[in-house]
Amino acid sequence: MNDRYIRQVGLFPPGGQKKLGNSSILIVGAGGLGSPLLYYLCAAGFGRIGIADSGAVEVSNLNRQILYDPSQIGFSKTASAIKRLREFNDSVQFTPHPHITEDNAREIFSGYDIIADCTDNEPTRFLINKTALILDKFLAEGGINGFSGFVMSVKRGCACYGCLKLPHKPDSKPIASIGAAAGAVASLQAAECIKAALSIGEGVFNKALMLDIFNGGVFEMPVERDPQCPLCGGLY
Ligand SMILES: [Zn+2]
Repeated sequence: MNDRYIRQVGLFPPGGQKKLGNSSILIVGAGGLGSPLLYYLCAAGFGRIGIADSGAVEVSNLNRQILYDPSQIGFSKTASAIKRLREFNDSVQFTPHPHITEDNAREIFSGYDIIADCTDNEPTRFLINKTALILDKFLAEGGINGFSGFVMSVKRGCACYGCLKLPHKPDSKPIASIGAAAGAVASLQAAECIKAALSIGEGVFNKALMLDIFNGGVFEMPVERDPQCPLCGGLY
């Protein structure tokens, strides 16, 4: 056993660390959520991590996208992230992917066990949810807006992002968020992914965890499957 993981193996069933090492996960979006999420997944010891993002690092990213530093401004996010993360944990295998589109989503998703949605726009969220459900992949959803955020997990048979009726959609304009909100949401997403890989604990299914960091509150919002949902309606 690698001593690196000695402080967590006792939390897992026998063979759990090896199982994580044999697990693969795709992070869609290497921004505010993707940055801390990637750190925690690498720290936990996932074996293979894909990162889908076509963007370049901008100076305005640095308040929350903690994978990057000023020397990487203008450079590819995936290349910059992989360079940083390899220094952090070189036992993880990384693969860069372009931005997810209707044309490439199924092919890219099919190479991974678990998907994490760290994007910042509604059309891509819908595409990610639908593709994950069609391919029967576990999906960790998360979003932030200002001092607020939400987390929910999605799998076949459960409510999806399309069933979630948020009073204020995340990422709606203006896009302003503090890094700490992204970190809080991403940490919960990371925990959901680790539990899913190991088949332990209870996932955040059929509900959303709503974080109101400004007022210091976290509450649970039940989410029922919507038979008219444009994403999961009629799929199962
Ligand atoms: Zn749905």
